[in-house]
Amino acid sequence: MEIAVFSTKSYDRRFIDAAASKGHSLHYIEALLTADTAVLARGAGAVCVFVNDQVDDAVLATFTSLGVRLVVLRSAGFNNVDLAAARRHGIVIARVPAYSPEAVAEHTVALMLSLDRNIHRAYARVREGNFALEGLLGFNLHGRTVGVVGTGRVGTSVARIMTGFGCKVLAYDIMPNTACREIGVEYVPLATLLEQSDIVTLHCPLTPETRHLIDADAIARMKHGVMVINTSRGAIVDTKAVVDGIKSGTIGHLGLDVYEEEAALFFDDKSDEVIRDDVFERLLTFPNVLVTGHQAFFTAEALQAIADTTIANVDAFATTGKALYEVTEAT
Ligand code: NAD
Repeated sequence: MEIAVFSTKSYDRRFIDAAASKGHSLHYIEALLTADTAVLARGAGAVCVFVNDQVDDAVLATFTSLGVRLVVLRSAGFNNVDLAAARRHGIVIARVPAYSPEAVAEHTVALMLSLDRNIHRAYARVREGNFALEGLLGFNLHGRTVGVVGTGRVGTSVARIMTGFGCKVLAYDIMPNTACREIGVEYVPLATLLEQSDIVTLHCPLTPETRHLIDADAIARMKHGVMVINTSRGAIVDTKAVVDGIKSGTIGHLGLDVYEEEAALFFDDKSDEVIRDDVFERLLTFPNVLVTGHQAFFTAEALQAIADTTIANVDAFATTGKALYEVTEAT
């Protein structure tokens, strides 16, 4: 099948080419998928997209007119897809539900450790010949309380790692799981988690219910000096409220791998440009904030698994008319 791959980077190409050696025709497109670029899928039966590609009604209407029957996501999250519109247009949506939750969990813990021990600041200081320790004081993770919001694949992996550090792990999820309970995680209401945690780490999907879950009210419940980590989806956090929380000292450390307006910024080299997003730029002025550009998934193991499952979704659709991991409004 001809597959149009949007938002392609060299690393996508490397892993997808290897996975698709069985005779698919791949059309790599660097552009982000929008209503304006959707026509670039002309000739393709399937379209492959990433997290910031917009699979909305207008895009799906164009796909229908071009004869595209399948959209495969190179991601687990599907908040960028209008599933009701896909159903109306008769286009199947498929995703990669689990590629490497450990990749995301390990990056989450890397943010925690870097922020706690000020590794980001120490790196810059030592290179300048500054070996002073003032301002680098950290705290032991051992004995601290970590609140995990969303204990699916990634959240469970984070909980497991944090119990290894000797942390008490609290969790909030609309569907608690036994794997977490078995490792000693205690499920509590969200308000309790926010009030008792030294570190709050977010691992729920972005849905209408979780949009701005961490807003001014939620921050007001948190411990003074709390560390907040978001490697899930940017809009789960109200960034302006978080900026206020940092200025007041309620949030003592902030680690973000995702940002609600990231589509205009992430995955491209903008180092020669003036960044016009004042909220994002304000975040970068704080010494206790560490931002990475949506790279938590970015390990060789994860890219391999994403490419393999993406091609398996296309193969299954080509032979049976059903993708392996179809996403519907009921998912
Ligand atoms: P998952 O589906 O396995 O787990 C999500 C969990 O969140 C489930 O247990 C679910 O019950 C829970 N949940 C749903 N709604 C909730 C709510 N309102 N409140 C609390 N919990 C709720 O997903 P996962 O594989 O663990 O991934 C978690 C998120 O991480 C994804 O949704 C995705 O947005 C994000 N992610 C980010 C990266 C990255 O590179 N930064 C990579 C992969 C996934």
